[in-house]
Amino acid sequence: VKKFIAVWLLLCTGLLSGCATIDYVTGEQTRNFYSLEDDITLGKQVFTSMNRQMEDNGVPVNADTEQLRKLQNMVNRIAAVSDLPDLPYEVSLYSTNLVNAMAAPGGKIIVFEGLWDPEEGLVKDDDELAAVLAHEIAHVTCRHSTEAMTRQLPAQAAFALAAVLASRNDDNRTQLILGGTFAVYQGLVVTHYSRRDEYEADRVGLMYMARAGYDPRAALRIWQRVAEQQGRAPPLSFLSTHPSDANRARQLEALLPEALFEYEKTRNSR
Ligand SMILES: [Zn+2]
Repeated sequence: VKKFIAVWLLLCTGLLSGCATIDYVTGEQTRNFYSLEDDITLGKQVFTSMNRQMEDNGVPVNADTEQLRKLQNMVNRIAAVSDLPDLPYEVSLYSTNLVNAMAAPGGKIIVFEGLWDPEEGLVKDDDELAAVLAHEIAHVTCRHSTEAMTRQLPAQAAFALAAVLASRNDDNRTQLILGGTFAVYQGLVVTHYSRRDEYEADRVGLMYMARAGYDPRAALRIWQRVAEQQGRAPPLSFLSTHPSDANRARQLEALLPEALFEYEKTRNSR
């Protein structure tokens, strides 16, 4: 019971003061109860647990080493020009026909092979693949997962409480993070990013890919294709975890001149 009170005090303190923090991407004030270190810890746990779960279910993880190396290089190139280049970026490749990609906090990116399936897939070339990766990296640098978790803190207190009661460990913050891991994991697999988060990841990702020297027109192609496929997305596909509408393509179209300027600048400096 003492631990329960301690967790609640921790939560209340967090809600009142610790949440106000500066967004690494916009430079504006935002609410995030978690530190960047927490993002990294949570992401590692989600990543490890998802990798294990995939393997347990017979899905080859990182079996295609050549493809994995290519993805890791692309992620490194985009991350290097992002707002948080020093996170421990790492890719896992799942050899399954699911058409999806996702990001855990702190720089862990998950890619499903179905993404570039010639018939069912979403991306047709490397620039388009870069667009998807840049969008996921933007979710990471904008810290959308832990921001969403901060908004859900009251519900999360239940997980934290369960973790505290289930353990003899006196480190309440660790227990809170353990509870949070479960919430992130659920969030990645079950729930969706908000539309506002999606628009932001589109905007930020577009500039990242352009600065990294990938043709930003590829992002527009993807989201136009996504808009066409809307409504017939199978569960757990990219479209179900990244809700879309025609406005996404329109927003990117408006930003394209600025992105093309960045792209040309990078290309000319090489
Ligand atoms: Zn997204």
